[in-house]
Amino acid sequence: MENFNLEATPQALFLDRDGTLIFDKDYLHEPERVELIPGTREAIQKALRAGCKLFLLTNQSGIGRGYFTMEDYEACHRRFVELLGISMSDFTACGVAPEAPDQPSKYRKPEPAFVLEQLAAFPELDPSRCWMVGDRKSDWQTGVNAGIRSVAVATGKPIDDAARNYLQENKIPLFNTFADFIKAAF
Ligand SMILES: [Mg+2]
Repeated sequence: MENFNLEATPQALFLDRDGTLIFDKDYLHEPERVELIPGTREAIQKALRAGCKLFLLTNQSGIGRGYFTMEDYEACHRRFVELLGISMSDFTACGVAPEAPDQPSKYRKPEPAFVLEQLAAFPELDPSRCWMVGDRKSDWQTGVNAGIRSVAVATGKPIDDAARNYLQENKIPLFNTFADFIKAAF
């Protein structure tokens, strides 16, 4: 995105996984199929080196639908962290919403509960310097609902007219990739 100025370096990133950091393979549950989007590893490491807190927030409705288990998810998460070249503890916290869309869920995006809990746990975080990064409207809505910033990446689901309108109405920047956002932000 052109002419994008961050007023201040991000203190925390709330990261969607599928379509943002790894390729979106619907209902991914095999660790060997976890595949980073190019540039993601370096970008995550750069944000960590800059002292930025990383949070993961992922909807995994395949669990609620009975397609795979939380153990499958956790195996994929371990592979994901390995590919990133970081430690499990480099994510300050991970929010996984296993419910299907028709099941009640406290954390399923666009619910802001996970973000709000982390902001409460780390009062040094300034919401205007915290970003929800994702490829879908439900990601951006989560940031809006939590009162933090949102940013869109174009590596996931196609951005249709409705999504583009939402971005414009809410002044949410769109980057080609997560790595491009990190280059602009740090
Ligand atoms: Mg996604």
